[in-house]
Amino acid sequence: MSLTPFTENFTQQESISDSAIAAATEVLRSGRLHRYNTADGEVSQTAQLETEYAAWQGSKYCLACTSGGYALSTALKAAGLESGEQVLTNSFTLAPVPGAIVNAGGEPVFVEVTNNLVIDLDDLEAKAQSSDARFFMLSHMRGHLADMNKIMDIVTAQNLILIEDCAHTMGALWDSKRSGNFGHASCFSTQTYKHVNSGEGGFITSDSPELMARAIMLSGSYMLYERHGASPDPSVFSTIRLQTPNCSGRMDNLRAAILRPQLAELELNVRRWNERYRKIEKRLREVSSFQVPVRPQKETYVGSSFQFLIPGISDDDARQFVQDNKALGVELKWFGDHEPHGYTSNHRSWQYTNLQSLPQTDEVLAGLFDIRIPLTFSLQNCEHLAGIIAHCAESLLNKAA
Ligand SMILES: *Cc1c(COP(=O)(O)O)cnc(C)c1O
Repeated sequence: MSLTPFTENFTQQESISDSAIAAATEVLRSGRLHRYNTADGEVSQTAQLETEYAAWQGSKYCLACTSGGYALSTALKAAGLESGEQVLTNSFTLAPVPGAIVNAGGEPVFVEVTNNLVIDLDDLEAKAQSSDARFFMLSHMRGHLADMNKIMDIVTAQNLILIEDCAHTMGALWDSKRSGNFGHASCFSTQTYKHVNSGEGGFITSDSPELMARAIMLSGSYMLYERHGASPDPSVFSTIRLQTPNCSGRMDNLRAAILRPQLAELELNVRRWNERYRKIEKRLREVSSFQVPVRPQKETYVGSSFQFLIPGISDDDARQFVQDNKALGVELKWFGDHEPHGYTSNHRSWQYTNLQSLPQTDEVLAGLFDIRIPLTFSLQNCEHLAGIIAHCAESLLNKAA
C-alpha cells in the first residue's frame, strides 16, 4: 500500500488573531511596555490579565511572569523551599521541571510513571515516606491527570506542599474542578506550544496570600505590588517585602495584550483540540500492537498532544518506526531514545540531578511515542497522519513476521 505523504508542519501554530494584534499595536504605540509603566489611572495590560486569569481559573491570586519554568522555581521558593531540600516529582516530564527544582535549590526525587502515563501512586506514597521531601511538584505531563482524589489523600496524609505543573493542563478538569486548583500553588506556561501563545510567559496561581506576596516580590516588583491584578492585600507585604529578594522575571504589557483575547478563545480551542485528539485516538486504537492510554471518566483533558505505547519494542525497531513515519512526513517523538532530541529527554540525560533507579519508567519510556497536535491541523489531516502511523506499525509487524 502506498500512502500520500503528510505535508503539514507539526510546529506551526495558528496566527495571532486580529484583535490580539490590534491590542499589541496599541501597547507598542503607547511606548509603555513595562508592566509598571502606566499613565495616570491606567491599569496595565499585565495587571488586567492577572485579574482575568485568576477569574477564569477560579483562584484568588495570579502572578504573570516570564516563563512556565520561572513560575515553577518561583512557586517553590515562595512556598519556602530551602537550599538542598528534596522535591518529589514525576520521572516522566520535560526538562523545565527538574530544571526549575534545581534552579530553586532543590533536589528532585523522581517518582515512577504508569502505563497510563500518570505518576505511580504507590511509588509516590513510598517515596513520600522514605525521603525527607516536604514538597511535591506534580507535573500533569502531556495533559494526563492522575487520580486527584487519591493524590490529595497522599498529600494530606504525608503533609506535603503540592505545586502543580499545569503546562499541559490549562483548561483541563478533574471531577469538574480545574487542574491547578488542587495545590498550594500552580504554574502555567504561555510559551508558543502550550494552550495560549505569547512566545514566552507563565502564570502562578494560588489562594495563599503569603505565598503570592513572596512570589510577587521575587518576580521583581520594585515595591509596586499595589499595581498588580489579583494580588493579596498590601498589608500582607509588610515584612515579606523586606525579606524577599528581587529575582526579576516579570511579564510585559505586549505579551499580556496578546494573551487577553486568547483567554476568551480557550474554551473553544479545548473543544477543537479534543476533536482532533479523538480522531487520532479512534484510528490508533485499532492498531493491535499499540496501547493507547485510558482516559479516566473524571478527567476532562485538553488533547493538544497524543501518546501511545508499543510495549516491548526494541530500540532498533523504535528508531526504524520513527524513520518510517518521518519519511511519510509524520514527526513522531520517541521518549525511549538514549539521546535527548528537541523537547524529548529523560531522567538519564538530566545529569545535574542524582542518578536514580527507575526501572518501571525506563520500561514505559522505551516504548513511548508522542506527537503534537497543532490547531492548524484539520480533522482530515488528523485522519491522514493517524493512517500513516498505523501503516508504519503494520510494516514493522510484517518485517518481524
Ligand atoms: C513547557 C513546559 C513547562 C514550562 O516551560 P517554559 O518553556 O519555561 O514556559 C513546564 N513543564 C512542562 C511539562 C512543559 O512542557
